Amino acid sequence: MRTPVSDYLDEVLHACDADDGEVADYIPELAKADPDRFGIAVATVDGEVYSAGAVDVEFSIQSISKPFTYALAIADQGLEGVLEHIDVEPSGDAFNEISLEPSTGRPRNPMINAGAIAAHAMVAGDDADTRTSRIIELYSRLAGRELSVDEAVFDSELGSADRNMAIAYMLRTVDRLDDDPPDVVRGYTRQCSVSVTAVDLARMAAVLAANGVAPDGTKILDTAVTRQVLSVMASCGMYDAAGDWLTTVGIPAKSGVAGGLIGVLPGQVGIAVFSPRLDRHGNSARGVRVFERLSRDMGMHMMEGTEAGRSAVRAASEHDDELRVYEVAGDLRFVEAERVLRELTGEPEGDRLVVIDLHRVHRINDVARRMLLEGIRRLHLDGHPVRLVDPEDVLPDPHAGEGYVPEVFDDAKAAIKG
Ligand code: GLN
Repeated sequence: MRTPVSDYLDEVLHACDADDGEVADYIPELAKADPDRFGIAVATVDGEVYSAGAVDVEFSIQSISKPFTYALAIADQGLEGVLEHIDVEPSGDAFNEISLEPSTGRPRNPMINAGAIAAHAMVAGDDADTRTSRIIELYSRLAGRELSVDEAVFDSELGSADRNMAIAYMLRTVDRLDDDPPDVVRGYTRQCSVSVTAVDLARMAAVLAANGVAPDGTKILDTAVTRQVLSVMASCGMYDAAGDWLTTVGIPAKSGVAGGLIGVLPGQVGIAVFSPRLDRHGNSARGVRVFERLSRDMGMHMMEGTEAGRSAVRAASEHDDELRVYEVAGDLRFVEAERVLRELTGEPEGDRLVVIDLHRVHRINDVARRMLLEGIRRLHLDGHPVRLVDPEDVLPDPHAGEGYVPEVFDDAKAAIKG
């Protein structure tokens, strides 16, 4: 069977193929880009990639580098340390605005150049070159292949980096930059000049979607770091179009002036679009349309909320005086665990055996685990012996408090027999 997912992406590609917008030209090398190039790549958290169009063409990552460098700065310095220097408020300004928060002198967020330059300088490294190599190393691990700098783009941007230089000197005057401004701008410009394809970007985005875990199971970034990065992408990733983006598309995103645009749907996929013509905010015009379309077609707006598993729990053996079996199915988070507890509240006090069958549960998050154990503790206090069916060990060490640990069995029959 040919997968319908790629066919669908082809269809989206054609539907969004208008030629409005302009290729960026303030970096002379970028003005040479073929404006008609257009590609979409979608990578799942387990490493499957679907694509349509020009997804093997290399272009410079530009500002899409910012969230990843911010992640590394947090990993190196801790969140508190980074927040001291860079705030997380949407600025409503253009990406290269020469501005700082008047009261604190901090850049407003790490997605505009001021904050991104400060974040670049916060990455650990004995000198500017080590810092930049560590940054490119991280991008490469996230993309799953070795990435390198496009030297032509780098030279071209460095030759016209007056504005970023001004930003770096401004940061230095308010003690937000310890290093030499030209060194920092050089490193920042190298990070922006890393060459990527839409597939690389989709893979990098998918690691953010997977709480920092690569498809091979390696934990590249801490969960707390990815949460911070995605939150900032959601509120500030699209510059002065951030509010419009959040309401219409509702996917944490980041754009770059070379025409790249990534979106991250937490727990699901990383998406990347490449198309060099930019709208007036400096975001890929076709890219924005693709995301609007994907969000609408696939119900990806994060405020839409995923539906809670409907039949999370079912009490079997209804009329049995001796025992009651509760069959639980699906992944358990707060909402599903609440349903289980609600069902358990129907259990009258007494010594009837309660079997909680978890064999169709695959994952229980921390809050659901605590809720379930508390339910077991209360059943125990009400007089019930409780047995668990948990062949996959989804509820390891089920210490329910007060020294009570329910017996665990591999299947319901064994649990009923005891
Ligand atoms: N390197 C570019 C700059 O600093 C990145 C800007 C962008 O992609 N929006 O101007």
